[in-house]
Amino acid sequence: MKLTDKAEDILEALWFADEEGRDIVSYEDIQTDPNDGVVQSLLNEGLIEIKPEGLCFTIQGKIEGRQVIRRHRLAELLMRDVLDIWDDSQEEWVCRFEHLLKEGVDTKICTLLNHPTTCPHGKPIPPGSCCEHAKDSGVYNVLPLTELKSEDSGRIAYIKTKEPEKMNKLMAMGVLPGNDIMLMQRFPAYIFRIGYSEFAIDASMAEEIYVRRIKRMGVRS
Ligand SMILES: [Zn+2]
Ligand SMILES: [Zn+2]
Repeated sequence: MKLTDKAEDILEALWFADEEGRDIVSYEDIQTDPNDGVVQSLLNEGLIEIKPEGLCFTIQGKIEGRQVIRRHRLAELLMRDVLDIWDDSQEEWVCRFEHLLKEGVDTKICTLLNHPTTCPHGKPIPPGSCCEHAKDSGVYNVLPLTELKSEDSGRIAYIKTKEPEKMNKLMAMGVLPGNDIMLMQRFPAYIFRIGYSEFAIDASMAEEIYVRRIKRMGVRS
């Protein structure tokens, strides 16, 4: 279903209200009225009901709202954990960003973030089919290097450190997103191979390198 950003924002407001145990969101709260074109389009799609005091979900609307909120909370986590450009004052940014995560992109991000269950505010992220699948199969695709076994290979997904010094050190070793990495040894230091070079780092550094595991026999997960 293709909804406008404004329409998604209304569904989001309805979801927030629902989480707080309220069925109806007043027109005032979402700065709209029953004659608003966006409200009319949601009505035509069968996603909302118009009541005298405000709007409420239909069953279908709640299903759609669940997807909107999932993208919103995944966007928050992506901005905080991967892009490092998030704080509470950037809620508006998140709201714009979430609208970009459509049609399968949310699944990719969910997988990258290991199917998280809560947003930075501690609010639940409604699971997608990718989360159910990961739970059933026990396969978590993106892991810190410290979770790999000796001789496991992976492709670097992202680096979590916020310290420029550490980042420079890692970059000098070729620890960059997209590069293949093989863990050679876990103790007493983490020794890994990138290309033809081997490097040793301690656990505190290794746990900040996130790797997408490559399954044996050349099948990429
Ligand atoms: Zn949140
Ligand atoms: Zn997932």
